[in-house]
Amino acid sequence: MEVQRKRFIGGNWKSNNTLAKSLELVDSVVNKLEFDNLDVVVSPVSLHIVPVQQAIKNNVQVALQNIGHKGYGAFTGELSFEHVKDLKINWVILGHSERRRTPEISESEEFIANKATLAINNGLSVIFCIGETIQEMEAKETQAVLEKQLNPLIAQVKDWSKVVIAYEPVWAIGTGKTATPEYAEEIHANIRKLLPDQSIRILYGGSVTKDNAAVLIGQPNIDGFLVGGASLKEDFIHIVNACK
Ligand code: PGA
Repeated sequence: MEVQRKRFIGGNWKSNNTLAKSLELVDSVVNKLEFDNLDVVVSPVSLHIVPVQQAIKNNVQVALQNIGHKGYGAFTGELSFEHVKDLKINWVILGHSERRRTPEISESEEFIANKATLAINNGLSVIFCIGETIQEMEAKETQAVLEKQLNPLIAQVKDWSKVVIAYEPVWAIGTGKTATPEYAEEIHANIRKLLPDQSIRILYGGSVTKDNAAVLIGQPNIDGFLVGGASLKEDFIHIVNACK
């Protein structure tokens, strides 16, 4: 029997917006969304997450863009799963290429997978991002790179109901060069073969727009999107509507 997967759309606001702008975005976009059978999550900068959460009037949830590697304690600058749970925040994005691939940050595969496992084991849900660079794609290393990023997670996680995978080719993020539906579908199908459970959702991310969302979501192995630039404007409403 074919497995039904509830579609998932995440809006990654990254390090954008003043607080006033974030709240304006809640009013003009987030609170205009109407949906039942979808998960929709927006991810403001962590300082804005509580006011944004309080301003949301519908069933949209919030996600943190990163999380610390330990619980409460003497870890200056870290935000722990305990802080997140205390505020009834359920989601965290981990492994975004802007954290993996920015040289000054360079989070390693192990570090990301360990943080994800800690978060999941403590009741949070994780949007786990993976993706290859243009050089890796051209060298035909995509599958090997994705496996290297996923394997430390697969080795540790038990409760896969708390995991959503976001496949985001680095060359497509913020570039306007969206993966073709065929390419994305092929990679998603390959990722699915690595996962222990057919019900795990795999999102596509990288220059998703209101114009390409419908054709991408039409692919059998694409279960939703992680949206950057287009989540900062009204286009996000069209993207969510395309997934209904
Ligand atoms: P983009 O970003 O939609 O602006 O390409 C996607 C992401 O980084 O999650």
